[in-house]
Amino acid sequence: MSMLLRGAPAAAALNEKTAQTVSALREKGIIPTLAAVRLGAREDDLSYERAAVKRCAGIGIETRRVSFPESVSGGELEETLRGLSADASVHGILLLRPLPPALDEARILRAIAPEKDVDGATEGSLAAVYAGTDGGFAPCTAQAVMELLDFYHIPVEGKHAVVLGRSLVVGRPAAMLLLHRGATATLCHSKTENAAQIARGADILVAATGRRESVGAAYFHAGQTVIDVGIHYNEETQTLCGDVAFAEAESIVRAVTPVPGGVGALTTAVLAAHTAKAAARRLK
Ligand code: NAP
Repeated sequence: MSMLLRGAPAAAALNEKTAQTVSALREKGIIPTLAAVRLGAREDDLSYERAAVKRCAGIGIETRRVSFPESVSGGELEETLRGLSADASVHGILLLRPLPPALDEARILRAIAPEKDVDGATEGSLAAVYAGTDGGFAPCTAQAVMELLDFYHIPVEGKHAVVLGRSLVVGRPAAMLLLHRGATATLCHSKTENAAQIARGADILVAATGRRESVGAAYFHAGQTVIDVGIHYNEETQTLCGDVAFAEAESIVRAVTPVPGGVGALTTAVLAAHTAKAAARRLK
């Protein structure tokens, strides 16, 4: 049986650190504030927004909710984001995505000031992740992978980390963060030949394929740590599952994240930590 890498204790430890930062900022008269901008009322967006607001409230971060109908124009949305970027009382901006297809997401994201991009969504943040500099913020889910590895003291330096998935939100930044921490990072995607064989050679395997339970026994070996980023709702069983076939992983690998209760439990904690950091950077 594998060791279970639960997200909740890692999130609690991160929240405690963030709460200390927030309390020090409040003593200096700064109230860390996150603006959450939502279009329409997709259940995914609403539940992430609710979770983010609750998480922030628990550690003293204020949230400001801004919502628009899905039919909002790109211009109006950009103007709002520019306004929040210029507003000194707002430290972080979360734009819930994906945006409706009619909107030019890349252009709209440019209206978010890089120093307030706590969700790591802008090109500026991705460039900083690529360069390994402190200019922006890593996407929260990719950062959550690192937080989980660190919390459970899983060595990264010198290890072979294989990331399955190359999206800008998860796979690519996760591989970069692992690389910066001294791992030998291999990035696989849907066109990779022999992905299972490559994955089997990994010390750390990060599954972000976006395909339900697509990573099974052929991808594992006994000494591995497997981080499952995936999250899917199985209509038939009415349960959540990940990109990893959990039962297969659990019987083979050294350590694995559960779904739910793994990486997903950490993303809003990372978002709150980034917001506090953005507010603290303002002091410097
Ligand atoms: P995505 O945009 O659909 O990207 C999936 C990636 O996986 C693509 O790069 C795809 O390759 C690659 N891929 C597909 N099959 C593969 C295979 N067999 N081997 C290797 N790579 C394969 O998904 P995403 O936004 O990155 O999200 C990944 C997963 O994380 C999803 O399950 C999503 O629900 C979940 N997620 C969780 C959280 C959280 O907080 N826990 C947050 C965000 C996302 P191509 O590029 O060639 O198509």
